[in-house]
Amino acid sequence: MKIAFLFALVFLVLSINMQAQTAAEFGKIWEKQHISNIFPSNVRHKNLKNYLDGLKKLGVNVVEAGRSFSDREIYQIEFGKGPLKVFMWSQMHGDEPTATSALIDMFTVLQKNRNKDWVKNIEKVMTIRAVPMLNPDGAEAYVRRNEQGIDINRDALDLKTPEARLLKKLRDDWSPDIGFNLHNQNALTTAGQTNKQAAISFLVVYGDEKKTTSEGHERNKRLASAMVSALHPYIPGHIGRYDDGFAPTAFGDNFSAWGTPAILIETGALHGRDEMFLVKMNFIAFLTAVKSLGDNTEKSVSPINYESLPNNASGRIFNFIFRNASIVDRTSQPHNVLAADMAVNFERRRAELTSPAFVRQIGHLSAFAGLEEYDAKDFNVVGRFQPLRTGNFSELLFYRKSRQVDWSAADLEKEFPPDAIFSLGKWIKGEGVIQKK
Ligand SMILES: [Zn+2]
Repeated sequence: MKIAFLFALVFLVLSINMQAQTAAEFGKIWEKQHISNIFPSNVRHKNLKNYLDGLKKLGVNVVEAGRSFSDREIYQIEFGKGPLKVFMWSQMHGDEPTATSALIDMFTVLQKNRNKDWVKNIEKVMTIRAVPMLNPDGAEAYVRRNEQGIDINRDALDLKTPEARLLKKLRDDWSPDIGFNLHNQNALTTAGQTNKQAAISFLVVYGDEKKTTSEGHERNKRLASAMVSALHPYIPGHIGRYDDGFAPTAFGDNFSAWGTPAILIETGALHGRDEMFLVKMNFIAFLTAVKSLGDNTEKSVSPINYESLPNNASGRIFNFIFRNASIVDRTSQPHNVLAADMAVNFERRRAELTSPAFVRQIGHLSAFAGLEEYDAKDFNVVGRFQPLRTGNFSELLFYRKSRQVDWSAADLEKEFPPDAIFSLGKWIKGEGVIQKK
């Protein structure tokens, strides 16, 4: 019994090492061969078409599968000739773009490495079909919903949107064995009750409320586990499990119910890393999954790395916290000064646009963490354009407490130049004056 356990343990460690090694190679291949070259949030339909032209030139099969509500083309990419059917779709939410670029890079690398054994295995064992950017109208406007204002991921049963009808048709006509449902989640989602952002979260999706398992569901747990092992060396502690409440009108849940067990992959964010890094993480995850199906190694993967993932949590972290600030309200008479912590968050925008930052909470915030924290105890802080209240812009002027400042000055900034200015989430004056914690 003990020996069997030891063997299992050694085997588990070996298989994790093997996956880590392969993941390191996939990371290097991505660095050398990826063709996605702009931040995913900046990718419009026309940029997608450029990427797809690149794939076609390499000889990859790309077809128009249907049209969006505003008549934009929706494409399907295909690779491989094997009987196992793998179906992937991305960006059914227009402002959730990371996986679209990662899919492009995955097909690029598969095509460019067709002489390699691991790709030959994939080609022989499976056929992969992928729809990148299912919601091109939403992607164009960088909004969640489609042009009709409908959340496609709540339209799996009603089928009021052409995009949902297309997705269902592509599934029903082909009956894939596995589905990959690719999304982005809030950047401030954490992996469990920690202060670590969930850069990637997985969910092996059940097809009913009772959580009935199946062979496909168990296989997907092993695949998710393999992907977790592959990503772990890159983002330790930053992988979570998405909430597994059954959503009766969502596509992932219904794909599973219709006979195509689905894996949900949600990309979050990682402080200090850009969007391309997250494309690379998606790419490594996808290739790990298809490679382990291609060479049958998924069969020997333990589901434990998936099963032991911490659940996604929210409401624990902010982009910035300024600790122990003295917040001056210039609109009150006499000027009210509140000693408190102040939390500030960005609002999500395309990378090419400036993201505004807003005051999200003021008070005693010791139970929360900032991705960046500052010790403001020696400073008065005042709003540049608006009083510092929850929901207002976080445009901050900092003054040393030792200074005499007339808070009623008509042009405060000119008459009393601040020691530091924090604007649009950056120090535009006096960086380093307020100490980073
Ligand atoms: Zn989504």
